[in-house]
Amino acid sequence: MLAASHRYFHQAADVLNLAPKIREILLTPNRVIKVEVVEEADDGQLMHFTGFRVQHNSARGPCKGGLRYHPTMDEDHASALANLMTWKTAIVDVPFGGAKGGIDCDPSQLSRFELERVTRRFVDRCKEMIGPTIDIPAPDVNTNADVMAWIMDEYSRHYGFSPGVVTGKPLHLFGSEGREEATGRGVMYALEEALRDRGRDLSGTTIALQGFGNVGSHAARLIAERGGTIVAVADHMGGVSNEKGLDVPALVAWAGEHRTVAGFAGGDAFDGSEIIGWDADVLIPAALEDAIDEKNADRVRAQIIVEAANGPTTPDADAILHDRGVLIVPDILANAGGVTVSYFEWAQNIQQFRWELDRVNAELEKSMRRAYEAVRGCARDKKIDLRTAAFVLAIQRVGRAALARRALREKIDLE
Ligand code: NAD
Repeated sequence: MLAASHRYFHQAADVLNLAPKIREILLTPNRVIKVEVVEEADDGQLMHFTGFRVQHNSARGPCKGGLRYHPTMDEDHASALANLMTWKTAIVDVPFGGAKGGIDCDPSQLSRFELERVTRRFVDRCKEMIGPTIDIPAPDVNTNADVMAWIMDEYSRHYGFSPGVVTGKPLHLFGSEGREEATGRGVMYALEEALRDRGRDLSGTTIALQGFGNVGSHAARLIAERGGTIVAVADHMGGVSNEKGLDVPALVAWAGEHRTVAGFAGGDAFDGSEIIGWDADVLIPAALEDAIDEKNADRVRAQIIVEAANGPTTPDADAILHDRGVLIVPDILANAGGVTVSYFEWAQNIQQFRWELDRVNAELEKSMRRAYEAVRGCARDKKIDLRTAAFVLAIQRVGRAALARRALREKIDLE
């Protein structure tokens, strides 16, 4: 995955004619943290995991990024995702750098109490290196508001009341209104902008969606509310389709109860892997990395792809789709709504003040549309695709911030 995100970076660095040394400086993480997490299981046996935190770049502010609990989590994964966060925070122009981390555990095999102990041990091991002005974790795959609450509690035991140390907290523990649905809401705005580029809008547009977790389910609900037709949804257990449009609120209720969309009676069942080639105007991958690769890219029939997940398209697939004229809204733009409202949450925590939901949503919409417009403008100016433009813009913003921080004799051109 690291190789893929670096390839996208280099495509943009080529446009900017960046020297190899500058590329290396921009790609190297500021700090890589690796900690041992040993805790007692409920039955008294020892559990042994490794925790990671990669702080990629802090030129524009404290590092910011999710914590993922997954058996495949490792330094390479954390580095690739931290790297994407640096560019993502720059695109939506929030005052953060990029970070990512996690623990190589499988939460489905842990009790709630084991999960809490593992989380607290991880915080204890890296507490000196996180904090409201240093590095602010957030939820990612398999972590949620409960995990964020435990992190805040553990950190606050050492440093005093510190709600700004994490975002994505429960509402009653100084989380923000609108944070849970923020990524999905941002995906909806990104889709509206992409449709505008193609001279159309949501009404009469059909959408196929992979992944129906936090991001996918909220995106589907909001898109359907605005007149889009969700014709197929797949998750890790299977898929369900309805060419007249799925009843999304009913599907959300079903998935909430059964933890999958499979078995939903309001449509026809299909093998989830077919979703990538679904006959729809738009494809939204909202599950894991590498969903669209060189093996299935030819099967894609959608004309627009909005990358709700991080890294869902491999560079080889990206090239195939680009040649076919498919419009791809890249992850670092499309799913930036989450980190944007995380910024609003952090700002509320620092100010000890609460915003109402209307204000959060209005500011999020402004921020997403402004970011899309900036990327679109860069793409048109330089005659490049949206992904390369997003990277170009982000590299320029991060580079300019880094250069403004100190006087250098060496001339570095970012235009
Ligand atoms: P989640 O755990 O809530 O949901 C993941 C969904 O993907 C589930 O529906 C699961 O069934 C599905 N899935 C997993 N493996 C699959 C497979 N092989 N085929 C089909 N579906 C599969 O996670 P989430 O928070 O919704 O995150 C989804 C993606 O969005 C991730 O790439 C994450 O990094 C990214 N993202 C999340 C946020 C956020 O705020 N949660 C913000 C930015 C980006």
